Amino acid sequence: MRRCVRLSGCVRELQCRFGIYRKTSNSWERQSVATPIAEELEYRMPDLLSLLATLVFTLYVFAFGACFGSFLNVIVWRIPRGLPIAFARSHCPHCNTMIPGSDNIPIVGWLRLRGRCRFCRQQISMRYLVVETGVALLFAGLFLLIVVSQGATLPQHGQASQFTNWLTDFPNGWTLQVFLHQCVLGYALLAILLMDQERSETPWSFSLFMAALHLGLVCWNPAINQLDQLTQRPTLGSPLALASLSASLNYSLSGGVLALVLGGLARVLKLPCRVRNSLQALLLLGVFLGPIVLAWAALIAGTAQGMQWLAGKLRARPSGPVLGLALHLFCAWLIILCSWRWWPRAEWPPWG
Ligand SMILES: [Zn+2]
Repeated sequence: MRRCVRLSGCVRELQCRFGIYRKTSNSWERQSVATPIAEELEYRMPDLLSLLATLVFTLYVFAFGACFGSFLNVIVWRIPRGLPIAFARSHCPHCNTMIPGSDNIPIVGWLRLRGRCRFCRQQISMRYLVVETGVALLFAGLFLLIVVSQGATLPQHGQASQFTNWLTDFPNGWTLQVFLHQCVLGYALLAILLMDQERSETPWSFSLFMAALHLGLVCWNPAINQLDQLTQRPTLGSPLALASLSASLNYSLSGGVLALVLGGLARVLKLPCRVRNSLQALLLLGVFLGPIVLAWAALIAGTAQGMQWLAGKLRARPSGPVLGLALHLFCAWLIILCSWRWWPRAEWPPWG
């Protein structure tokens, strides 16, 4: 309790420093005239409770992401080998012993056993820990970027009329839907890139399943896949959202067609990439985010791939593992998501 009082005192000290409050002999007094920056800071400065709520929610999303990371390891290992995903318990790849539930806890299980099987003491690949932590960090990062910042980097940010706490907008706000949508896309891109790095081909059924999830989310709120086309913030069930379902499906379809064209171009130009995996990553980007974002992502990824190719030519011998186009597309998606608001926007279709 005493610590809470001391922490809220620290927050008041900060507010005092930014000119929002004034310290009198035995209390705090609010300044009658606050500077614009002080006003904005007061709105943005989280009080202790919302700070704690943000921490708890982020940790929850992190744990949720770690479980999905564990499942991603199963997907990447079993799908290319034609093994069933559901209803099959995890087992050690060396001694084939079933792994007990207590050792199967994401991240914690690997750390507790120090990367060795409990029964045969053989090494368990570091990849399991990296993928589980990676997905957990990705989900937690997306949560902070989209929900907690209230879409500060998304195209509709300029429409915000006032600075409010993110908890007041949650869970009915549009940011939660955008967050879930981007999580599905990021998870799918990560799965494709991991299978690509393993030199195995992503089955089409996986990408189609992810596209079906996208369709489900679009029916929930049709605005989430055309954020760069709207002039106002999407709200659930609004006439704008309901009217835009067909526009949303058209936008997804245009993105898919453009992805097929780009994939065909990559094939004709004989680009050094594993074409089918890259085509699926392109298709998902196009279907989820539309043709404009797809074009920017392809430009970033194509430039990175071209530079890598040039560096290999100049060195005359390739060194290290060659990075695939799927990895560049994943990085391009992350870059755009962190700076979407500042990218040039164009109307689609350009002729309409
Ligand atoms: Zn074993």
